[in-house]
Amino acid sequence: MSNTFSEVVIIGGGITGLAAAFELARTGNDVTLVEADKQLGGVGAFFKSGNQWVDRFYHCQMPSDEYLLKLIRDVGVADKMYWNSTHMGFIVDGNRYPFNTPLDVLRFKPLTFMQRLRFGIMSLLIRRLGKGLDLDNIKIEDWFSRLYSPEVWGKILKPLFCSKFGTHGGNLPALYIWQRLGRESNVAKRGYIDGGLKTIIDAIESNIKSSGGAVKTRSPVRSITEFNSHMRVMFDNNTAIDCDWVLSTIPIPLLKETIKGSRLDDLFQFPDIPYQGVVNALFFLSRPLDNLYWSPVVNSDTEFDGVVEMTELVKTSQYDGRHLVYVMKYCGRDSKLFSEDKETLIQRWSDELIKLYSNIQLKKEDILEVEVFKSPYIEPIYPLGYSNIKPDFRVGDSHLVVATTAQIYPSITSCNASVKLATDAVTYLRRLDSSIQ
Ligand SMILES: Cc1cc2nc3c(=O)[nH]c(=O)nc-3n(C[C@H](O)[C@H](O)[C@H](O)COP(=O)(O)OP(=O)(O)OC[C@H]3O[C@@H](n4cnc5c(N)ncnc54)[C@H](O)[C@@H]3O)c2cc1C
Repeated sequence: MSNTFSEVVIIGGGITGLAAAFELARTGNDVTLVEADKQLGGVGAFFKSGNQWVDRFYHCQMPSDEYLLKLIRDVGVADKMYWNSTHMGFIVDGNRYPFNTPLDVLRFKPLTFMQRLRFGIMSLLIRRLGKGLDLDNIKIEDWFSRLYSPEVWGKILKPLFCSKFGTHGGNLPALYIWQRLGRESNVAKRGYIDGGLKTIIDAIESNIKSSGGAVKTRSPVRSITEFNSHMRVMFDNNTAIDCDWVLSTIPIPLLKETIKGSRLDDLFQFPDIPYQGVVNALFFLSRPLDNLYWSPVVNSDTEFDGVVEMTELVKTSQYDGRHLVYVMKYCGRDSKLFSEDKETLIQRWSDELIKLYSNIQLKKEDILEVEVFKSPYIEPIYPLGYSNIKPDFRVGDSHLVVATTAQIYPSITSCNASVKLATDAVTYLRRLDSSIQ
């Protein structure tokens, strides 16, 4: 067995691990970032289509993403960002409605006129109405049904806010959704970067390396143990890195696998919470759809429950002149859909998309290529009172520090929140160990 030594080993080469490694490397720390996959990026990874790199999952940046935008500036690619106004729609019972302005709300036929009025008024007041309430212990379904009426909750709000959580959606703490209001508005300025997420990921990687940090892909971690006065990170190929500190950014169920049966496992007092995964299909089309960036799809004979027309935001040159549409369904990793073979899924979702856009005569010939990507650990399903059980950075008195999506709550899952988490975890590590700058 060949062992090397590093001051800090960071596990997971998604945006959280990359941001933490960049922060540590640039202040001269001896850091090694290890990633199981052959490429960096995690959920933000990309693939080659034609001559271009394309994000596996739809991504955009918001003007309020201050931590992510700072990182983009720090790694020297801010000049590649561009911003556009984007719009949203709603597809209900097969009919599409613009959903951007107060007038759109007043004309929104799936609701009665009184429901529309109440929806508009409550939406204006909601930030204020939530202040002072113990929203961490109130179910979103209970609170929103009271504010908006059970009918409006069921018809619009549940599909809008809870599509990521499936049947668990209504049980989430209201705090999680309340926190989200304000990050996005319906007519929103959204940002994208030339070359896609690859531009950001590559720039972070090259900055880590030029500051003396090490990056190892194809390095799945099998176990993390305490060894003499050090930590030992062991890989599938039986090599290991010894280090002073381990910073894990991988989803909690995967982390638990790596510490099973050890003292770290005993120290890591965190309940098993379920995670929701995602199945998403990318349609490369020869034509645009309906000029809406994002449309939730409700009760319209589709299995997917959202459509993101990426080329509303992104220049078609990013996709060799083609129009790119993502459709997605969030589901459990043990669901039938998650394990279904790609060809069957492509066939079914293509038919559904064609039918959904029959009003603009979308045809089979307009679909040039379809790719499917899945990811098993996207959204932790937060129970009530989650603020009190959210895992700390440090696992007991050990030298294992954790920074993962499940600690972002009540903020919503996003790259910006991940970068903030990484920054906070590094600050915490520096406080624990004064030799880390
Ligand atoms: C469909 C979709 C759309 C999204 N849209 C947006 C958006 O528009 N804007 C936005 O800001 N955010 C968006 N997000 C959220 C964002 O992508 C994630 O919050 C973020 O990428 C999470 O990064 P992470 O580093 O915490 O986790 P991950 O990206 O999951 O990274 C974890 C890494 O750890 C690696 N790993 C796991 N186990 C091991 C092991 N044993 N050894 C070594 N490595 C291991 C994995 O391979 C992975 O690379 C979206 C997410 C999805 C799914």
